[in-house]
Amino acid sequence: MLTQETIGALKPFEKKLYLASPTMHGEELSYVQEAYDTNWLSTVGKNIDESERMIAALIGCSHAVGLSCGTAALHMAVKLAGERLYGMPRPNQGTLRGKKVFCSDVTFDASVNPVAYEDGEAVFIDTETDTWNMDPAALKEAFRIYPEVKIVVMAHLYGTPGKVDEIRAICREHGALLIEDAAESLGATYQGKQTGQFGDYNAISFNGNKIITGSSGGMFLTNNGEDAEKVRKWSTQARENAPWYEHEEIGYNYRMSNVIAGIIRGQIPHLSEHIERKKEIYERYREGFSNLPVSMNPYDEKKSEPNFWLSCLLIDQEAMCRTVRGEREALFLPETGKSCPTEILDAIRLLNAEGRPVWKPMHLQPIYRNNAFITAKGNGRARSNAYIAGGEIPDVGADLFHRGLCLPSDNKMKPEEQDRIIEVVKACFM
Ligand SMILES: *Cc1c(COP(=O)(O)O)cnc(C)c1O
Repeated sequence: MLTQETIGALKPFEKKLYLASPTMHGEELSYVQEAYDTNWLSTVGKNIDESERMIAALIGCSHAVGLSCGTAALHMAVKLAGERLYGMPRPNQGTLRGKKVFCSDVTFDASVNPVAYEDGEAVFIDTETDTWNMDPAALKEAFRIYPEVKIVVMAHLYGTPGKVDEIRAICREHGALLIEDAAESLGATYQGKQTGQFGDYNAISFNGNKIITGSSGGMFLTNNGEDAEKVRKWSTQARENAPWYEHEEIGYNYRMSNVIAGIIRGQIPHLSEHIERKKEIYERYREGFSNLPVSMNPYDEKKSEPNFWLSCLLIDQEAMCRTVRGEREALFLPETGKSCPTEILDAIRLLNAEGRPVWKPMHLQPIYRNNAFITAKGNGRARSNAYIAGGEIPDVGADLFHRGLCLPSDNKMKPEEQDRIIEVVKACFM
């Protein structure tokens, strides 16, 4: 519990410490300048070509298409999957009308919204405790309940690769397409291979808080050349090859800007250095918390190497003080020797630093409250509702949200600053 004495003695950082903010190196500016000097200030140019080439080579995917953001990349992935499976829809209909899609549950909602853009219905798959990603046992159960489903969208939370082998095997068994949301995991590897190459279609993001950034931007990745061409066409307003603007399909204005691509081009060479720094931050926290009743976001050391984008903390159940959350606010009862995410986040905020609760599971989001949710034990919805009414925590996702939080993980954070975060977290358990 955080005491008044501890709070009184806190000296906030002069400059705010962020969860994850852009880390620039200088080369970015020279490529932006090049775009300016050559007047390639649109969605065509060398920065785009080079960034696409570098990312395809880095990830080991044959085609990368630069887009305005990761969400656009996921939208294109979902639309392609829908069209390939279910045929071209009427112009005013989504490709997934009336179709279910299995999606990660503990993820950022941009993972999932594209399914709704295409009129599909996300079915949320519970999370496992080894990597905090889609649980293969729950996915199996979901296919038992909905054998007709043909698309799976899996994310790698906080830069930690999920159980790719198991998920792929289940997809193969059911003839389902896999879409990999590698927005948070660029540079992370699974069985020695980069994430972003395991799905039929994959997406990465260069949003300002990601491991490298273009200020915004994203890429669609695939090994299928025809599909990559389709995304190039759709993302530039779906123009046909004619002397005038000729349109046979609904288009999107989703292409990446050559200015933003300049920043990305300058950032790519620094990816591994960013990962090294993120790993140091993760290790320093793990070391610092070794005597506390907490654990860090876990990963499979034998199979994967995360990019350590965000360092997270999970409080042991026995060390949780009493706490409840509504839709907008949280309450807790301070208790000696115990704490909870809200108390720790308050303490971090008092230091002028930024933390955040673990991403709230999609099945608990008001917008998705009527969608199906499947755990390894079957339909998780009924148990979830009992939890909202104050019962036992029924599923892994809700439990991670209940006990977990993301810590300041900015690359530019100094070790002595990080040590002060560690101290204040320790004070919460006094
Ligand atoms: C950031 C993020 C996205 C979306 O990327 P944008 O470039 O911000 O559109 C999608 N999925 C996950 C898991 C993300 O963290």
